[in-house]
This record gives sequence, structure tokens and C-alpha cells, in this order.
Amino acid sequence: MRKGNLFVVSGPSGVGKDTVLAALLEHQPDVRVCVTATTRAMRPGESQGNPYQFLSVTEFESMVNEDAFLEYAHVNGGNLYGTPRAWVEENRAVESDVILKIDVQGGIAVRKKASDAILIFLEPPSLAELERRLRARSTETEDQIKIRLLDARNELAQKPHYDYAVVNDSLESAVDHLRGIILAERCRVPARG
Ligand code: ADP
Ligand code: 5GP
Repeated sequence: MRKGNLFVVSGPSGVGKDTVLAALLEHQPDVRVCVTATTRAMRPGESQGNPYQFLSVTEFESMVNEDAFLEYAHVNGGNLYGTPRAWVEENRAVESDVILKIDVQGGIAVRKKASDAILIFLEPPSLAELERRLRARSTETEDQIKIRLLDARNELAQKPHYDYAVVNDSLESAVDHLRGIILAERCRVPARG
């Protein structure tokens, strides 16, 4: 039986991952975006399950001990984030395509655990535009913006580990390209043997 495809969408903070995936779901509602787990504090407007499963460090560690994460990592200043393995497997088993919106190190780790994962790198049109978007979002302090821009350079250097790169220039074009990849991967002839 065909399994759903496993897509990973990564890219530097502020490139537009949330924005692009929200727009994608309007046009392609049959893909499922994974709610990952984190130990970071809830921000105003967030709630349990939106956009994360919020866990204490003890709860997170017991899931690590149960091997319940497909991958997990310290991201942006030491908080833990992890992809729940059971959710991914259950959805793929019922032929749903799933998307993981995780950082670049997470994407590379997923590829080691699931060799059939399809890794998509979301790129900014330029570093100047990335900086403009981070500032316009107004969710980080000046210090955090500086760290994220430094991280962005390292993350952009990891692009060769990814299968596809989509530039988030116009939102409409980025969504079209992402949909194109998802639809093309559904047409892939399974490898023999
Ligand atoms: P990420 O999830 O990658 O951190 P966001 O989706 O929060 O990024 O986007 C960061 C900022 O950039 C937001 O203010 C968003 O409205 C803006 N943005 C996203 N995509 C575009 C785009 N294609 N053109 C202009 N601004 C964009
Ligand atoms: P934020 O806390 O600002 O929402 O997200 C911080 C970063 O954590 C983002 O780059 C996001 O993609 C990443 N992230 C979210 N969930 C996971 C996960 O399960 N694993 C990894 N490796 N990164 C994640």
C-alpha cells in the first residue's frame, strides 16, 4: 500500500514558513502539518496544541527515553523541540502526506531516520529582505534578531543537503512551487525492489 509522503520544510527564522504553509493549506487542504512538541514557554495568543504541544522538560525527557521522537533538538537559545514519531507514522499509514516545519538540523536528522523524506528548503530572496521581515514581524528583541541573522547564514549554507529549494519572494509563487513539488512527488513511480 502507498504510504503518505513525508515532507520537511525548513528555512531561516523569518523567511515565511508559517505564512507559506498557512497559504498552502488553503489551496491544498489534504496535507497535514505536524504539531511538534516544545519545552519553550507559551507566548501570548498561543494555547496547548497551537502551534505546539507544550511540555515540561521532564515530560519531554520521558518522551526522549521512550524513543517517541523522530528527531529532537535544542533550537534558538536552548529550548527543546521534537517531532512526534507516532503522529507521523499514523498519518503516513493512512496515506496522508505530512509536512514537518522544523529547523535545518532537524531536517537533516529526519533524513537519517526516514530515508524517503523529501526535504524542501525555503529561501529568502536576499539576506536584506530576511532582516526586513524579521523586523517587520516585531516578535524578537534586537539581540534575538542579530542572533537569528547570524544563524541564517549557517542555515543557508546547509541548502545542499536538501532536495528542493523554493524562494519565498512573492507568496503566491512560493505556494505554487511548494504545491508543484507535493503534486509531482505523488506521481513518482516507486523504486523497484
Ligand atoms: P517563519 O515562520 O519562517 O519564522 P513567518 O511566516 O513568521 O516566518 O514570516 C515572517 C514575516 O515575513 C511575517 O511578518 C510575514 O508576514 C512576512 N512574510 C512572509 N512571507 C512573505 C512574502 N512572501 N512577502 C513578504 N512578506 C512575507
Ligand atoms: P518558534 O519557537 O519561534 O516557534 O520556533 C523556533 C524554531 O523551532 C523554528 O525554526 C521551527 O522550525 C523549529 N522547530 C519547531 N518544531 C521543531 C521540531 O520538532 N524539531 C526541530 N528540530 N525544530 C523545530
